[in-house]
This record gives sequence, structure tokens and C-alpha cells, in this order.
Amino acid sequence: MENIAFLGLGNMGGPMAANLVKGGFAVTAFDPAAPALEQARQGGCAAADSAHAAASGADVVISMLPNGGIVKELYLGVRGLLQVLGPETRVIDCSTIAASDARQLIAAAGERGIRAIDAPVSGGTAAAAAGTLSFMCGGEASAVEAARPVLSAMGANIFHAGPAGCGQVAKICNNMLLAIHMIGTAEALQLGVDNGLDPKVLSDIMKASSGDNWSLDKYNPFPGVMEGVPASRGYSGGFSVALMLKDLGLAMDTAAGSATSTPLGALAKNLYQLHGGDDANRRLDFSSIQNLFRRPAGD
Ligand code: NAD
Repeated sequence: MENIAFLGLGNMGGPMAANLVKGGFAVTAFDPAAPALEQARQGGCAAADSAHAAASGADVVISMLPNGGIVKELYLGVRGLLQVLGPETRVIDCSTIAASDARQLIAAAGERGIRAIDAPVSGGTAAAAAGTLSFMCGGEASAVEAARPVLSAMGANIFHAGPAGCGQVAKICNNMLLAIHMIGTAEALQLGVDNGLDPKVLSDIMKASSGDNWSLDKYNPFPGVMEGVPASRGYSGGFSVALMLKDLGLAMDTAAGSATSTPLGALAKNLYQLHGGDDANRRLDFSSIQNLFRRPAGD
């Protein structure tokens, strides 16, 4: 069985590494945050005290990091991981980053004979825990095929989107659409509630009607409608407003690069910026956009 180095054990990486252990892989993990590393250790990973230590001797290096700057700092440059990995090592970056950053990483790896792919995910923390993530992969078909057994231990769907960077393009298209239907769902629910409807009754009606969508059905943003989602626990955990803003920024940069009109994506980014103007809101789950529409008590 292959040895895996897992770097970045946050909301997503922590449960993904735990599923690899459950799948029988030997996982050596690193995260600079001590509590995250300790949790991984309790989940059966070996804990390393640096990314280089975790990656030494690994067959596969997987990263799940907050942004492209951190990914590039980790792998590239004279002190980067690519300098110390052997050509037989395979790299799978699951972070959501710019497609151009993913291409740069994959090209730099290729120069050293290392096969790398971009493999961002969809499904959120619940799918990360359940091992049912969707992986959107970019890179050579043979590299994606080689990654399949490892990805299968963490996910239910593995798509080959196209050459290097295409996984990232698929991911930001998906998340731009997610932001748009989350905002639309929150707006519609508030309109109903402000006009005397119970949000659960309205949700049931729309789920059986033409307004049905993932935000309404699987991730309802109105508190009290659905159990087990961030709205039922004060919008804690889940996918933060800060990360959604990052993805919408990537979508807008990509749209600018291809001269594509994305008026709804731009509006969604503006609304999330308004909501995330308050630092506390940036840490909440992105379904907290519901609060932008709610009236203060007594209004
Ligand atoms: P997170 O902030 O919870 O976790 C990121 C982790 O990376 C942190 O524990 C941090 O300490 C660690 N880290 C930072 N620098 C590091 C380094 N140099 N080496 C090793 N670890 C390092 O973020 P998350 O929610 O787990 O998201 C991770 C990635 O997955 C992001 O790119 C995000 O956009 C994407 N994503 C998140 C979700 C979600 O629902 N949370 C869904 C899909 C995709």
C-alpha cells in the first residue's frame, strides 16, 4: 500500500486524511496548527513536524491548503517541496486555487519528472467526512488514472475535466453558480417569511416546484428548517464566507481573462463582499448570507 503525505488538515483536509487511513493507506500528516495535527494523529495519521518531513519517502503528496500563495510557497522555489521529491512521487493538489497557479505547479513538477494534477473538490465538509467528495481533476489522463485509487478513498465522483488547470476552472464555475443560487434561495425564503410563511413550509413547496436547487434542498440557509447544516448551528463550520469570496474572486479573474460576461457572478461577489465586510461574518459559513436579508428584531 502506498505511503501518503497529507498537508493541510483543516475543515476539509482533516476528514479527508482520516478517510485515507480508513481506506488502508499509511498517512503522514502535517499542519502548522497544533490542534489540527493532534486530531489527525488521533485519527490514525503519523504526525510530522514539517511538510518536508511528511513528504520524505512518500509515494503520493496531497495538499489541501487555503490559497494559491500558500500552495506555491510550499512546492516552488529553492526551498520548495519539488526540490526534494523523487521523480516517482505523485502530487495531488486538492486546494481551490487559480488555474494559472495550478498550471505553474504542474509544469514545474513536470520539469523534475514528477506527475502532478489539480484536483479541487466539491461537496463540503459533510462529503469530506462521509468520503463522498467530487474531485474535478486537471492534468494528463494517465496521471489522473494513477490518482484514482487514492481519490476513491475520499470521494464518490472523480472527473477528468481536461488538461492542467481544468479542474480549477470547473471548480470556480461550480462555486460561482453555488453562490448565485444560495443568494437567490436566501432572498426567496426571506420574501416568504416577511409575508407570513413558515420557512419550512415554503422550503417544502419550492423543493417540489421549479425553484428546487441544492442550496434549498441540501444546505438550507434559513435557521430551523434543516438539521445538521450550518444554519442550524449559528452558521459555524462548513465553507466560510472568506473562502467563498476567494472563489468568486478567482471566477471574476477568469472571466476577465476570457472576456466572458458574468453579471450574476459579479453581483454575487459584491453581495458576499458586503456581508463579509464585517470580520466576524467572514468566518461564518457562506449560507449566513441569509442574515443580509433578515430584518433586525422589532423592525
Ligand atoms: P481551513 O482553513 O479549514 O484549512 C486549511 C489548513 O491548512 C489549516 O489547518 C492551516 O493551518 C493549514 N495550512 C496552512 N499553511 C500550511 C502549510 N504550509 N502546510 C500545511 N498546512 C498548512 O480550510 P478548508 O475549509 O479545509 O479548505 C481548504 C481548501 O479546500 C481551500 O482551498 C478551500 O477553498 C477548499 N474547499 C473548501 C470547502 C469547504 O467546505 N470548507 C469545500 C470545497 C473546497
